Amino acid sequence: MPSTTASPLMDRLGRVHTDLRVSLTDRCNLRCTYCMPEEGLAWLPKPELLTDDELVRLVAVATERLGVRTVRLTGGEPLLRRGLPGLIARLTALPHPPELSITTNGIGLARSAVALREAGLRRVNVSLDTLRPERFAEITRRDRLQDVLLGLAAAQAAGLAPVKVNAVPVRGVNDDEIAGMAAFAIEHGYRMRFIESMPLDAQGAWDRGRMVTADEILERLGERFTLEPLPRSGNAPAEEWRVVGTDAVVGVIASVTRPFCGGCDRVRLTADGQLRNCLFAATESDLRALLRGGADDEAVEAAWRASVAGKGPGHAIDSPDFRQPDRPMSAIGG
Ligand code: SF4
Repeated sequence: MPSTTASPLMDRLGRVHTDLRVSLTDRCNLRCTYCMPEEGLAWLPKPELLTDDELVRLVAVATERLGVRTVRLTGGEPLLRRGLPGLIARLTALPHPPELSITTNGIGLARSAVALREAGLRRVNVSLDTLRPERFAEITRRDRLQDVLLGLAAAQAAGLAPVKVNAVPVRGVNDDEIAGMAAFAIEHGYRMRFIESMPLDAQGAWDRGRMVTADEILERLGERFTLEPLPRSGNAPAEEWRVVGTDAVVGVIASVTRPFCGGCDRVRLTADGQLRNCLFAATESDLRALLRGGADDEAVEAAWRASVAGKGPGHAIDSPDFRQPDRPMSAIGG
């Protein structure tokens, strides 16, 4: 990758931001109970979404002027974005191409994995909370487990490696599958990661008591496997363990009980072009308005730096003053 002389995108706490999450759409083909209501969540109107040209320009500013090195495409469901392989190819062809990955529910991956890989996508994270078809249909309100499993296999075959499987255990919903899902991932060569649930649902119904903590996840895994801790890589949010006797690695992302905000290196761009300096930010910077108002790259860079300069220390989920963001995760991008 050509080196960039961009000065680092740093906040007041000295955290350097090199990771950009870009939401490509707020739409989704599932309706997970912990994310969206069954009906009635209005989609963003199409004219409000960033066009491919706008998106490529913003990623170019991020990589050439701000030192961003990794870009994760998210949603909603990013595979629903029309012409996605073409967009990925354009991002890969930038003078300072970012390392590109995607977080998806896996539906549609079976038919698109090869095209995405050929366009320049490097890795894929697939969200999957259960291996039981009826439970999958209950959680997602759609009977699509088989599509996700085919998508995982296709991603693996296309070389989008390592294929990571992200599960959010919820007490009384799927927490009895923690060890079983890890065994499934080990068997197929996927990298299993368990994520503590966070208050980002559209309904505002998150309940801390139903969140399964990292300690509990490790206890369940420890009942079936022997785990050996691995050194943490950089600012990666996942703590990882090698499963003794196998090549497999399992990870836990303890966003709530062991927050990693002190090493945060990420910013987020919503599908409608709003820059969020934190998943839980109360304010956004309107980059779309700048672009559509004719701003040059210097002005976009300045707005981006100003947003990051104003970033708070972290999410404070455990504080009594914690306020859930106005936008749900499906509109922010995970
Ligand atoms: S909550 Fe905000 S500061 Fe903490 S890791 Fe997430 S984006 Fe970074």
